[in-house]
Formats: sequence, structure tokens, C-alpha cells
Amino acid sequence: MKDPKQLIKSQKSFFETGKTRDISFIKAKLKRLKKSIITNEDAIHQALYKDFKKPKFEAYISEFGILISEIDIVLNNLSKWSKPKKVRASKLNFPSKDYIYSEPHGTVLVIAPWNYPFQLAISPVISAIAAGNTVVLKPSEVSSHTAVIIKIILSDIFDDAHLCVELGGVSETTTLLKERWDYIFFTGSVAVGKIIAKAAAVHLTPVTLELGGKNPCIVDESADIKLTAKRLVWGKFLNAGQTCIAPDYILANNRIKADLVQHLKTEIFKAYGENPEISPNYPRIVNAKNLQRLTAMLEDAEILVGGNSNSSDNYLAPTLVNNPKLDSKVMEGEIFGPILPVLDYQTEKDIESIVKSYEKPLGFYVFSENKAFCNSLIQKYSFGGGAVNDTMIHFGNPRLPFGGVGESGIGAYHGHFGYETFTHKKGITIKANWLDIPLRYAPYKNKLKLLKKAFKWLR
Ligand code: NAD
Repeated sequence: MKDPKQLIKSQKSFFETGKTRDISFIKAKLKRLKKSIITNEDAIHQALYKDFKKPKFEAYISEFGILISEIDIVLNNLSKWSKPKKVRASKLNFPSKDYIYSEPHGTVLVIAPWNYPFQLAISPVISAIAAGNTVVLKPSEVSSHTAVIIKIILSDIFDDAHLCVELGGVSETTTLLKERWDYIFFTGSVAVGKIIAKAAAVHLTPVTLELGGKNPCIVDESADIKLTAKRLVWGKFLNAGQTCIAPDYILANNRIKADLVQHLKTEIFKAYGENPEISPNYPRIVNAKNLQRLTAMLEDAEILVGGNSNSSDNYLAPTLVNNPKLDSKVMEGEIFGPILPVLDYQTEKDIESIVKSYEKPLGFYVFSENKAFCNSLIQKYSFGGGAVNDTMIHFGNPRLPFGGVGESGIGAYHGHFGYETFTHKKGITIKANWLDIPLRYAPYKNKLKLLKKAFKWLR
């Protein structure tokens, strides 16, 4: 690991050259990054496969494809985003012109998780670099093969003074966190998010925290049950459920619950066959520690399907659990694995008592043909983002902000929201000299009445 003080010093002096704000220089770097992701697709997939047997199709949909779109959006819009934005001036300041200038924060620390280890490391880096910052990226040590290829790819394109990848785990991250950064962007668990926030507070460093939560899926009696089951199975078992916005639990209207469970079983079978362990479409749990954490959740559970595991390969079958109690292990916190509890409700009060017994989730899903019902839930509950009649797909639209609220996170990114996150906004008023209204200057005698009128009429 490089001496972090020296690293920050070299990044600060590179920042001072102004090169990180040279749009054509940045665009050229991002074009090289795009090309490198495309040419290294197989090598990246091999690393992802070694980490937890991620299928190639899933790697494309959730790791490469999203990054290529993100780079394209930046390439198409960066010149526009980085220009000072003219806004209407206040008449109180007449004559003036008003602008919002975007300026990069400076030297940014990005800390990434293991579950989409390529995409969740590179995506914030794209936004941070586009916004004119220098970056130190710390990928997750848990997905160690992907961390290595990230370092190889990025260090071929960027000088360390512009973007440096530091490998390591808790101890290396703790060392990095002792330094004074201009911005910290963290993706990971709530518990570590609090450690990051504390470290940042020492220097009043602004942060984005992309965390997790317990994401409910409400299914009412008007929903298309077959399609609902198909989309729930897709969202839950993609990446073997190791997704921050995966459905965490289902709350189904008690009149359709049995039917839904039947369809969920059918869809699991259709997607992964009779024995998902031999399916090429089903990944593994990332390590033994996480497998143990998940199998412990099944000890007191009524299993409807799945439940079997194989510790020699960190395999855990797609699993449905029937009506767990809220104080059972599987309902205690975020599951983050292929276990899907199915609970039922009778009234909207039942929904409220369950959803509100948890912190604000990162994702929220409603399956219903009743628009008023969907809308009332969207407005009633606070959550990061979500979808109606589907799961997780909001993540794929870079025109939507992606981030949490409350315990599921602070701040957002993707597309223009990423650029906004990594820039400070400077409000600038350019005053003209051809007129100087005397009202505001002392002595104030006999001016207050006129001032009040001016405030009323000249906003
Ligand atoms: P994690 O919090 O354990 O680790 C994330 C990063 O923090 C890693 O780089 C790790 O090295 C570092 N880290 C771990 N412990 C640390 C410590 N004590 N001090 C300093 N740094 C430390 O998270 P994870 O297991 O990699 O990922 C799973 C969690 O991340 C889940 O809760 C999931 O919901 C969340 N997540 C959120 C998003 C999102 O976009 N909101 C995306 C993916 C994952």
C-alpha cells in the first residue's frame, strides 16, 4: 500500500494543474476505459466467476452493460453539465446576472463492496473523474479476483496521481480513513457506513453512503400473479440474492398468497431446474462466513422450497420461507442472500405494522393493477427507490437518482446525479456597475418602508 499522505499530496498537486477539469482529457480517459471494459470482458468475467461463479449473462446485465451506458451518458453530456448554468437573477440585485458553477470536490475516496464488485467500484469512479476529481479507489477484498483486474485495468489508463487503486481490507481502509479527503463515497453495509460517517466527521468531509435495508414487496389481490412470481424470482435470485435492492420479503394479500407461492415454486424450477446446484445460471454465496450467516437464518424457519446447502462450494439453494415471525432470524435484518420469506396481510394496517417495524429500506416494490393503491404506498412509505410490478429495474435507468434514505443511505448517483454528487455548486452573482441603487447603504434613515416594498415586489 502506498503512503496515503504521499498519495494525497501527489493527487492534490495533479488536481492543482487543472488537468482533471480539462473536458477533452477526461473524455479521452473515459473512452479508453470503455474500450478496455469491452476488450477485457472475458477476463473480467473470469474474475467474477472465480469470486462467486457469476454467470456470464448476469455479469453483462449487472456489471458491464450498466457501466458502458454510464460512460456513454457522461461522454454525451459532460460538456453541457460542466458549463456554468444561468439562472434568473433576483430583481433585488438589479442589475445582475446569476450562475451556478460546478466545481470538483478535489481528492475523493471511493470504497466499494463485493456483491457487484466491478460495477459498484467503477460506476462512482466514472462520475467522480467526470466531475474533475482525483480518486483513490478501494475495492472489496472479499471479491479478490475482481479487485485485481480492476487495478490492472485502471492503472493502465490512469496515473496514480489522477486515479489510484489501493487493494486491501479493514486495516487498509482504516488507514485511508484517517486521512483528510475532500469527499468519501462508500457502498456497503449500514454498520460500516456508520464507521465511515464517524471518520469523515473528524474532518467534516462530505459523504455519500450507499447502504442496504430490508426491501418489502407488496403483492395485492389485483396483481398478475404469474408474472409477479416470475419477476420476483428474477429479482431475488439474480446474483443469488446478494443484491442491495433485491426483494427481501414478500407481503402478499392472504387471498392470493397460496397461488403466489405455487407460482414462485414453478418459476424457481423454470429458471434453475430441479437441482439449482448444477445450473450454470446460479451463482454461489461469496464466502463461508456469509453462507453460515444465511444457513443460520433457516434454523427456525418453515421452508417451502430449497433450504439445502453445500459448504464445500458455498452453495445455498433458492429458498422460500413461510410466514416467519418478525423476531425470527430471517426477519431480523437484511437477508442479502437467496432466502425469500413470504408473509401475508389482510388489511393495509397489517402492511404498515410490518413495513414500519424496520428502518427505511433501499428498495420498495408493489405488485398491483390498482393504481390508487400503488400510488398511496409510494407516497406513504419512505424508501430509496423502487418499482411498480417489477423489481430492481429502476437501477438501470441513469436518468433516475439511485440512493437510500435514513439508514439505507445518504445521497444518490447515476448519470447527471453522479456528476452533481461529485461537484460542489457555487452560486455566483455578477453585478453590473452601470447602476448603483442607493437603498441598501447606510445611513438607513427613512429607507425601511421602501425596503419592505422592494422585498415584496422585487424578488
Ligand atoms: P461491507 O460494509 O462489509 O464492506 C464494504 C467495504 O467496506 C469493503 O471495501 C470493505 O473492505 C470495507 N470495510 C469493511 N469493514 C470495514 C471496517 N470495519 N472499517 C473500514 N472499512 C471496512 O459491505 P459488503 O459486505 O461488501 O456489502 C454488503 C452490504 O452492502 C449490504 O448491506 C448491501 O445492502 C450493501 N450494498 C449497498 C449497495 C447500494 O448501492 N446501496 C450496493 C451494494 C451493496
